[in-house]
Amino acid sequence: MNRNDCLALDAGDALAPLRQHFDLPEGVIYLDGNSLGARPRAALARAQDVIAREWGRDLITSWNTAGWFDLPKRLGDRLAPLIGAGAGEVVVNDTTSLNLFKALAAALHMQSAKTERKVIVTERGNFPTDLYMAQGLTSWLDRGYQVRLVDSSEQLADAIGPDCAVVMLTHVNYRTGYQHDMAAMSRHAHEQGALILWDLAHSAGAVPVDLRRDGADLAVGCTYKYLNGGPGAPAFIWVPERHQAAFTQPLSGWWGHARPFAMAPEFEATAGIGRALCGTQPIVSLTLVECGLEVFERTGMHAIRAKSLALTDLFIALVEERCASHPLGLATPREHARRGSQVSFTHPHGYAVMQALIARGVIGDYREPAIMRFGFTPLYTSFADVWDAVEILRRILDERAYDVAASRGAVT
Ligand SMILES: *Cc1c(COP(=O)(O)O)cnc(C)c1O
Repeated sequence: MNRNDCLALDAGDALAPLRQHFDLPEGVIYLDGNSLGARPRAALARAQDVIAREWGRDLITSWNTAGWFDLPKRLGDRLAPLIGAGAGEVVVNDTTSLNLFKALAAALHMQSAKTERKVIVTERGNFPTDLYMAQGLTSWLDRGYQVRLVDSSEQLADAIGPDCAVVMLTHVNYRTGYQHDMAAMSRHAHEQGALILWDLAHSAGAVPVDLRRDGADLAVGCTYKYLNGGPGAPAFIWVPERHQAAFTQPLSGWWGHARPFAMAPEFEATAGIGRALCGTQPIVSLTLVECGLEVFERTGMHAIRAKSLALTDLFIALVEERCASHPLGLATPREHARRGSQVSFTHPHGYAVMQALIARGVIGDYREPAIMRFGFTPLYTSFADVWDAVEILRRILDERAYDVAASRGAVT
């Protein structure tokens, strides 16, 4: 394998033309779309239009005429096919942390008749905000609920027993890129009488997800990672039709009311997915989510997955071959079914090496402990990018061109 072979792969890649829908700076190899997706080209004109025309000229009439009020549901319906959800089952709103809180509270409520079930099972290695939101909810409820942290995926099945109310898992782990078997885990949770809540932050737009086929109960996820919705773009929540009537969440704001503009003093949850909403949304940011989703409509998750596996396989093979003399450890599963769309390598000076990579235009990121994380986004990453990134990494390692004493920014 050499650079020309990579160029040949690019020439035969049906997804290669989609890169033109993104604006990436010259000379940058962007391998951090798992943290903040690149900007869709269309987002600039869309932002200009929503600010100048919808807000500036049409002012408050835009709630109706520009469809601002229905945007969370409209975007939810557009996102739904990417995760195997039905129409009227997804809304884009709030943050992943907030949606987790709502979903977890609703799941506990749905299980509350089974008073022996007081445990939320999750993984110690889950993303911290997921753990923190579960801890915050259970301690605030003060009804004897506990969060049980499991150390490995092998122990997970055993930890789900007769005391478990809800299993809360992140489908693709943010550090390692490990992907759970959603169907098997959901089946096991149900056999044990538990509900299962999936966090799709590193799955939506990254790997094929089929929530309904695989028996999930509830799900949440991000739009600013692989879906390219923009920094801090609102998240999403999925409540399948079969659970909507029983879905009661505590953030009962007016957007979740059956008649928000009746201005009634009593809360009455609306029917359907609208009950997952809370209050007024950041419309400018919400609007831009559509620009990211539009690009996905030009292809499909199976084509994206095939290229993602080819990119991550190539990256693993080239790093192992060309950087073999360096203390790098693969933290990501080799098995395709267990891998998301990222590759993580440990290195004793992972932070410093990542800073050197970024200084040379290869943008990945670093996660404690010692993990260099590289996200592969088939919509705008080429096989030649993979070759060039590995070549730059090889040179940095061979020349020890990294500063072990580098100080850290607030965001790593
Ligand atoms: C990125 C990520 C989040 C982010 O939550 P915010 O509320 O958007 O800050 C949550 N959970 C997981 C698993 C993530 O990867």
